[in-house]
Amino acid sequence: MAEQLRYDGQVVVVTGAGGGLGKVYALFFASRGASVVVNDLGGSFKGEGNSAKAADVVVDEIRAAGGKAVANYDSVEFGDRIIDTAIKAFGRVDILLNNAGILRDVSFKNITDQDWDLINKVHVKGAYKCARAAWPHFRKQKYGRVINTASAAGLFGNFGQTNYSSAKLAMVGFTETLAKEGIKYNILANVIAPIAASRMTETVMPPDMLAHLRPDWVVPLVATLVHKSNTTETGGIFEVGAGHMAKLRWERSSGLLLKADDSYTPSAIIKNWSKVVDFSQPQYPSGPNDFLTLLEDSQKLGPSEQ
Ligand code: NAD
Repeated sequence: MAEQLRYDGQVVVVTGAGGGLGKVYALFFASRGASVVVNDLGGSFKGEGNSAKAADVVVDEIRAAGGKAVANYDSVEFGDRIIDTAIKAFGRVDILLNNAGILRDVSFKNITDQDWDLINKVHVKGAYKCARAAWPHFRKQKYGRVINTASAAGLFGNFGQTNYSSAKLAMVGFTETLAKEGIKYNILANVIAPIAASRMTETVMPPDMLAHLRPDWVVPLVATLVHKSNTTETGGIFEVGAGHMAKLRWERSSGLLLKADDSYTPSAIIKNWSKVVDFSQPQYPSGPNDFLTLLEDSQKLGPSEQ
């Protein structure tokens, strides 16, 4: 049997840990030796109201099982207070799971500034504030693991979710850059697009489907990515749910390169459109410099080849 992954001596901050995915993360890491900060604002799935109960129930459950946990009731918008809770209670922070989230689904025709701003505050500002506060600790100790939470809605778009999709795709860019800045300090950041039964999905998915989507089945991938044995997988985008997991990446068509002179017109593009969208010889860029290299290579081509 494979050895159990353990997190003894480590401190895990889980945002939105009062229910759904956050709760199962918190229970798991506490059961594997970590001290856990159980953060939850305790509001509705639309981001209304607040209550200490959500976090307290999870902390009680962890302690009753002999684990170590403290509650934090702040909104992730005040992520510095959440990290403060970790430092005050346990003296360190090793793993940050940016998981808290809400929905304000509405067609774009009817969206209000409030729907837009609230989603961005919780998902984007919340993840930023927590990571920003944890970062100096991670750098100093030359160890940090971050999981940010995107969504298939962010990767592919989804009707009624312009606000949520934008915020969730922002998690991808955020993670990619954290990964690039963090690697030197052994700070690894990955982003997941989970799928799981929770109060967020119970109104939009049929019960028989939800039965196959236990939140617990997202945990093993997260646990693997944030474990100290992972020293290389960073900047990864993973879809995970129902026991399935897969990595995603950008794919670029080989593209069309036109000579930048008077012949470079919209008509020339239309004539060659099939090359713009031809994925038969794909490239898999992973950084802004990839495009510059592409351009440099093209400079080496003679006019006729262009
Ligand atoms: P959930 O509603 O069960 O859990 C989210 C938790 O976050 C709740 O306990 C809530 O109180 C808390 N929360 C909300 N706003 C907060 C704030 N400002 N500060 C602190 N806590 C706050 O939903 P879930 O399905 O477990 O979602 C967890 C994460 O996964 C979210 O980021 C969600 O967008 C994402 N996600 C979930 C699914 C899915 O299928 N369940 C799919 C894609 C993405």
